[in-house]
Amino acid sequence: MKTIEQWIDGAPYHGEPVRRVPVENPTTGRIEAELLEASVADVDHAVRVARRAQLSWGKVSLAKRMDIMFRMRQLVLDHQDELATAIVNEHGKTFSDAIGEIQRGRETLDFACNIAAALKGEISYDVSTGVDVHTLRQPVGVVAGIGPFNFPVMVPMWMHPIAIATGNSFVLKPPSPAPTASMIIARLYREAGLPDGVFNVVSGDRHVVTALLEHPGIDAVSFVGSTPVARIVQETATRHGKRVQALGGANNHAIVMPDADLDHAAQHIAAAAFGAAGERCMALPAVIAVGGIADELARRVAEHAGAYVVGSGFEEVTDLGPVISARAKQRITGLIDDAEQRGATVVLDGRAPTVEGFEDGHFLAPTVITGVPLDAPVYTEEIFGPVLTIGAAATYEEAIALVNAQPFGNGAAIFTRDGGTARRFKLDVQAGMVGINVPIPTPVAYYSFGGWKDSLLGDTHIHGPEGVRFCTRAKAITERWPGATVHAATMSFEREA
Ligand code: NAD
Repeated sequence: MKTIEQWIDGAPYHGEPVRRVPVENPTTGRIEAELLEASVADVDHAVRVARRAQLSWGKVSLAKRMDIMFRMRQLVLDHQDELATAIVNEHGKTFSDAIGEIQRGRETLDFACNIAAALKGEISYDVSTGVDVHTLRQPVGVVAGIGPFNFPVMVPMWMHPIAIATGNSFVLKPPSPAPTASMIIARLYREAGLPDGVFNVVSGDRHVVTALLEHPGIDAVSFVGSTPVARIVQETATRHGKRVQALGGANNHAIVMPDADLDHAAQHIAAAAFGAAGERCMALPAVIAVGGIADELARRVAEHAGAYVVGSGFEEVTDLGPVISARAKQRITGLIDDAEQRGATVVLDGRAPTVEGFEDGHFLAPTVITGVPLDAPVYTEEIFGPVLTIGAAATYEEAIALVNAQPFGNGAAIFTRDGGTARRFKLDVQAGMVGINVPIPTPVAYYSFGGWKDSLLGDTHIHGPEGVRFCTRAKAITERWPGATVHAATMSFEREA
């Protein structure tokens, strides 16, 4: 069986593992690898190595750093099938979705290839006679990244290219259910010419996260995961004097107005709700249909989703793979059962699909529910599975009040043909990422990604310009050069006179 170690100082590192954790393939239900969980001593070693490496990496020229990013970008392209295979084996999403995840992650590498543009400072001269001021941004030092299971490549790639290109070292704590991709990325960074110790991987449970959050050698913590853990991470890391961005969970809503193109809406809502088995922080688990169209919309969404093929992510016909574990499947099924007991109507029931040849996989097919009471956990909690609730509202005002009443604020969308309604929505809605006839409004990597309210704890969004600010500290320099205050232009004028 494959053993997955740590990666420290440019090579696999065995260290003193505290536990061996099984890594399951959710499609087959088989254990295919063992993950060695790092000890606190291993984490300490990784952080010390990263700190030492940063001292010289932070002084490497921008040209050289960008050159390494260019090479890394090409290597990720060259190895995307290897990365996608690791994602499908450990997460279960379809191969094409895994390739899509890698491409979205690579956008941040693209951005990092031109990090010089994002690091340009400002200058004002003669702010006082002979006194100039300019600003520059320098690396914070060592950035720790902690990622969720649902995007084993993309989410860490929102973090490390920017951290590294801006001159920091990086220590990654990958998700335990899907750790292999991080080791491939570590190997590719070495092939790209990144100096040893600048990118490190330490795996494990909360003890590893806590060790990173409390370590005096870590300067900044970038976290993406569920909100309860985001809260722990933010509180612990700030208590230990670190800057933190902690992206949490979501319960994204879309409003469908009666003037919307219902076919377009139904098709895109189905893809947004059930793609990747609903295991996306930008998935769409809740729709509010305005003006008596809820049943018709539910019928059309169910028609699309009922045709989705559930199965192995390696088969081309598959639309959605399994959820991550037997426990997740049980939790999601329980939420649907509970809604039904509360009087909701299960329009499309995906609780018990049969997937031939994969009887031990953790499969769920798309489920569409209407008439869900507003206090039912299937509506109030983050489902993180292929389940969509379609609720009804009489007016836009009623619908936006429902959207804004829930504690999360990651993504939100509206389907309408009316520009005025769309404009109102984008200003009214309490969410960080907004879609107009776009149900998954994930920004491209040269913008920043992040939610509001319980979907993001901390001040800055991730990647793009806010990512650069997070990974760097500003410095303002005021300088005077006594004896050199006469302008050359003045001198030549005086000579001519
Ligand atoms: P999770 O919060 O359980 O785990 C995230 C990371 O934290 C993992 O590396 C895990 O090992 C670690 N961790 C877990 N419990 C911990 C604890 N008590 N103390 C310290 N560390 C701990 O999340 P998950 O189940 O891996 O991922 C799914 C969640 O991530 C969903 O809530 C989803 O919405 C969220 N997510 C959010 C975004 C976003 O951009 N906002 C993106 C992807 C996923």
